[in-house]
Amino acid sequence: MTRCADRDNAPEARGLAMVDVTIRGAGIFGLSIAWECLQRGASVQVIDPYGVASGASGGLVGALAPHVPENWNSKKAFQFESLMMADSFWTSVQAASGLSAGYARLGRVQPLPENAALDLALARGENARQLWQGQAGWRVLNERPSWAPDSASGYWIFDDLSARINPHAACLALAEALRSLGASISTEGDDQGRVIGPGASTAHLVAVASLAATLGVARSPASAIAALRAMAG
Ligand SMILES: Cc1cc2nc3c(=O)[nH]c(=O)nc-3n(C[C@H](O)[C@H](O)[C@H](O)COP(=O)(O)OP(=O)(O)OC[C@H]3O[C@@H](n4cnc5c(N)ncnc54)[C@H](O)[C@@H]3O)c2cc1C
Repeated sequence: MTRCADRDNAPEARGLAMVDVTIRGAGIFGLSIAWECLQRGASVQVIDPYGVASGASGGLVGALAPHVPENWNSKKAFQFESLMMADSFWTSVQAASGLSAGYARLGRVQPLPENAALDLALARGENARQLWQGQAGWRVLNERPSWAPDSASGYWIFDDLSARINPHAACLALAEALRSLGASISTEGDDQGRVIGPGASTAHLVAVASLAATLGVARSPASAIAALRAMAG
């Protein structure tokens, strides 16, 4: 009797969603969105017929390289804010999963090929001071770092914002972190709750934009949509 009553009251029996959000696609985007939804208290399932990291996110080396600090626009601002969030994001994923994502903000050295490029590099350094708000630097060096390649001009650019990641390991870490908080990841299943994935283009855009605004990577859904459209275009 009690069991029947429980069954009648089960979410499926009442036509209610078992999970709040279904995400189709277990690449770096789908898994990251799932992680952020979970962090905000939503229950989540991820469905990918080919499994975790079976698409573009399956590579072993990824460079998280910032746009050049000039001609600032919403796309560059969006990327900058995202790069600044990466450290705490991957720290929390690694803590929850016990797995390394291979993330490290090591910076990048670029030899300046000719003196003619020096003025531009110095101007970009000035821009970085303003646009990167003191949170990251872009400097021209006239002394060669011990491990850097030769520079024909005798100058090098060093930015301390660039990072590297192992995309495949990062996806496995995200998947493990998701499971540790109760999310399911499977190769098939029915949509439940809000659905984010292929074929939901406008809804997808708005959902991701709303999430980006919630995360603080964009000031509002409207600005996030503008940034996402700029990226798509
Ligand atoms: C060789 C290479 C090098 C790259 N290097 C860099 C780099 O250095 N730095 C950088 O920032 N970016 C780099 N990128 C780009 C980066 O890898 C991608 O932008 C990123 O991985 C895309 O992630 P995603 O989750 O959107 O897509 P994917 O990782 O492709 O994930 C999409 C997932 O959706 C699944 N799927 C497809 N259809 C369905 C469906 N109907 N239902 C459910 N699931 C479905 C697929 O199986 C797949 O697992 C590189 C890409 C490549 C190919």
